Amino acid sequence: MKLFTRRASIPDAAVWTPPGTTVVQRYRNALGHKEGAVVLVYTAGERRCSYFATACLGCTYRAASTARASRLTEAEAADLANTHAVGCRAMGHGVPAAPGDFNAAQIVRDRLRILRPRHLPAAPASPHSVLISNFHVDRVALQRDDAFIQQAMTEIARTEPDFVTTELNFSGTGTQFVIQPHPAPKPAPRRRTASRH
Ligand SMILES: [Zn+2]
Repeated sequence: MKLFTRRASIPDAAVWTPPGTTVVQRYRNALGHKEGAVVLVYTAGERRCSYFATACLGCTYRAASTARASRLTEAEAADLANTHAVGCRAMGHGVPAAPGDFNAAQIVRDRLRILRPRHLPAAPASPHSVLISNFHVDRVALQRDDAFIQQAMTEIARTEPDFVTTELNFSGTGTQFVIQPHPAPKPAPRRRTASRH
């Protein structure tokens, strides 16, 4: 008689690496080794981007920047991860479910929308090149490689060319994605004032 059936290939949160990332450090939070959630320090990208991020698998904590720095070195990300782990009391509840392709593409689109430059009255916005590190904070939810992100952006560039465009990258070896600003606000229509007679 079989007492236990092994559930097939359920990833263990203690050693899990979100697809598309390279995990360089792991911390257990304040609940400790057995029950506590894991806090990851990772980078992403096929060519291992030199910027890092941290994410807690037990709560919604994500960080790829600080108030002082727009990008994190490994030491800075590890510092944030450690500080979070000391204070976080979330139970470890396994590995987050991977989204389907449609929802994953939506995560890419949402990030691009957040990055889209806005015009300010004094400073017209300029186009913004997309870096693979722009998706660092999304990697735990996204669980896709760079090729998927590029494919999703290619699709948006094809259907919404006023939102995302492509150009040859700096070294001329690949595609660079560029987010276009919102259209400049139209000048307010002049109010016609009726002349009194
Ligand atoms: Zn947490």
